Amino acid sequence: MIVMKFGGTSVADRSAIERLIAIVRAARQAAIQPEATDWRGPVVVVSALGGVTDRLLSVAADAGSGNISAASDTLRSLRDRHLEVAGILEASDERPAVEAFIHEQFNELERLAGALSVLRDVTPRWLDAIAATGELLSSRIVAAALTAHGLPAAWVDARQVMVTSDDHGAAVPLMKETAAAVSSVVDPVLAERRVPVVGGFVGANTAGVTTTLGRGGSDYSAAVIGACLGASEIQIWTDVDGMLTADPRVISDVQVVPHLSFGEASELAYFGAKVLHPATILPAVAQNIPVRILNSRRPNDSVGTLITRERPTSDRPVTAVASKKNVTVVDITSTRMLMAHGFLARIFQVFEQHRTSVDVVTTSEVSVSVTIDDTRRLPEISAALREVADVTREDRMAIISAVGDGLQRDPSFVCDLLQAVRGIPIRMVSQAAARRNVTLVLRESDLEPALVRIHERFFGVPA
Ligand code: ADP
Ligand code: ASP
Ligand code: MG
Repeated sequence: MIVMKFGGTSVADRSAIERLIAIVRAARQAAIQPEATDWRGPVVVVSALGGVTDRLLSVAADAGSGNISAASDTLRSLRDRHLEVAGILEASDERPAVEAFIHEQFNELERLAGALSVLRDVTPRWLDAIAATGELLSSRIVAAALTAHGLPAAWVDARQVMVTSDDHGAAVPLMKETAAAVSSVVDPVLAERRVPVVGGFVGANTAGVTTTLGRGGSDYSAAVIGACLGASEIQIWTDVDGMLTADPRVISDVQVVPHLSFGEASELAYFGAKVLHPATILPAVAQNIPVRILNSRRPNDSVGTLITRERPTSDRPVTAVASKKNVTVVDITSTRMLMAHGFLARIFQVFEQHRTSVDVVTTSEVSVSVTIDDTRRLPEISAALREVADVTREDRMAIISAVGDGLQRDPSFVCDLLQAVRGIPIRMVSQAAARRNVTLVLRESDLEPALVRIHERFFGVPA
């Protein structure tokens, strides 16, 4: 049985949902072939309609700052958009119930926005309650649309299956509890030969309070559900042909990477390849489930990217290059303390206490430099570190990470990489002993030229 996750652009409007229906129909037909060994599924996981999560978060921000009329305008246009998309149900019996659900959710959002505009305090718990609505709505519409188009489906409320920690905005699925919930809620739907449709990104803590897994978290939901069900494949349907050799928003002549190892995919996702949420691969690794990235706009014309434990070896040392902006470098310098026993532990403990993850680390005799994405707790972190060291920060930095299992076999790769960016100031360089990636930290304004040169050097067509 396969789990198919459709991202925001793959459910953005009626024609996207029509494409989704055709894709799910083909998967359903494959599942019920006489020679098939498992007639269940697929299980469908969907994101909110494209752009909706951003707009819901803007509703929370507007309401929280007292701008209730902006919040109400956005809610009105979102309500209309969902009702318009629900038009895909045409004369289906399901339409009145789905429309009633849409109104119910938006009435509730209006109430929440009203309360926020009085309280003027948008807590992560409120944000989750608001943001989760996007996936609850899209999944309900898609479930009904599949049924209306002859594919018996059932809406599964993600809050009943995805059991998470309490960390609002970045909740972590609790695997044991989620597996139990999946087997009691999703298994019966599969047994009735219906297609379960679940909203990604959304969960609930053990007390039933709505949580979310963090931006882009629907991929993660799909992988967790796939692992709980022992799926044979987790498919990530999106708006590009697969994992590309670099971010297509920066580089125009990118190529599709046909096959990645789990390790490569994790590194690429972690260092900014947005097509995959960084945690997606973890549940797949645990159960050794292949993950496939596919283009929902070209289901028959693109083979996508297959991600498995091992991949066939290739001649290229680098498989793909990931990049991300909006990174902050923190330099921690202490001539007195650095060599002292336990100093590094003390530094990392400060980041840990403030729940801030560190991405790239380099050390010298007198200083440690780290990069972080999330600077919300940096003032407290700096204050704590200043007890033992001098601390400076540099914002608007970027990371480029060249990733490939083949790097292990190429001892001179770092030289080639640095040669490619010669003349561009590089703030940090990091290569782990396992050598699956070489990571550079540089100014955000230098990212594009550096990436263009690196891509040309390692993926350019030889003249
Ligand atoms: P979805 O809504 O389907 O989850 P996302 O926007 O989260 O889609 O991810 C897909 C996007 O990721 C692509 O449109 C592309 O712009 C971006 N992206 C960044 N780096 C890469 C890469 N290396 N390969 C493919 N896509 C990438
Ligand atoms: N809708 C959520 C987001 O935009 C989750 C996702 O699409 O994966 O972040
Ligand atoms: Mg995504």
